[in-house]
Amino acid sequence: MKTNNTFLFSVDLEDARENVHDGHKYQDRVVETTLLYLNWLKKNNSVCTFFSVGKIAEKYPELIKEIVMRGHEIACHTYSHTPIDKLGKDGFKSDLEKTLNALSKSGAGKIIGFRAPVFSLTEKTQWAYEVLSEFDFVYSSSVLPAKNPLYGWKNFGNQHKIMNGKIIEIPMTVGKFVHLTLPIAGGIYFRVLPKIFLFNEIKKCIKNNRPVLSYFHPYDADTGQEKFMHSGINGNKIYNYLMYYNRKNLFSKLDEVMKMDLTITTYSNYINTLLKA
Ligand SMILES: [Zn+2]
Repeated sequence: MKTNNTFLFSVDLEDARENVHDGHKYQDRVVETTLLYLNWLKKNNSVCTFFSVGKIAEKYPELIKEIVMRGHEIACHTYSHTPIDKLGKDGFKSDLEKTLNALSKSGAGKIIGFRAPVFSLTEKTQWAYEVLSEFDFVYSSSVLPAKNPLYGWKNFGNQHKIMNGKIIEIPMTVGKFVHLTLPIAGGIYFRVLPKIFLFNEIKKCIKNNRPVLSYFHPYDADTGQEKFMHSGINGNKIYNYLMYYNRKNLFSKLDEVMKMDLTITTYSNYINTLLKA
């Protein structure tokens, strides 16, 4: 496998209604919208990684089985999307235990990958790598290597690194837009940022032999969900508007990205290639 055109496309499987006041009065859209990704991946003859929260695996085991049956990888995204600093070290351990148990029961297979909710693995929560090692994880995709109002690890750099002597951290792909460093191909940013910026940053990755990392959520592709204020954005109305912005063009924008001769693969396949190199 060539590595200089690798597209580490991924879906973070979580329910946008979680932690929203009275969230369950809105339509449950998780399965329907996840199928949109599965169909798009099938159209591209590709397999990728789905980072699932434990709650999703408990609620929709058939969905997890379907994802696995189609050859994709399941990885861990904590039990109910609580940021690592809020869990603390002991809380993180019990969370992983509970999540791995839920994923295993749903038929997810062996889990070797982890993604922290909202990139909450930072300089301050580096102890998380020690815990991930104890649980036999191989890789993590949990760092936003940029300054960010919420989380972020400004000086991490844009290359993968081995943490705590064992865990391979592959940081999210970021690019400089005006004076901000942003994840170019993640959910809201992918939908909002201009194509020219996105394509230039992808070209830089290809040229410098770095994979393009992206993350999407069921809601990023959802054009049928009611409007509600999302959790975790401090009630910010502009940000909430962007949460819904341009969802309808997500797949056509992704189709254009695929014309750049990128190859989608799972994170574990990519890690294997790295380890063999
Ligand atoms: Zn998430």
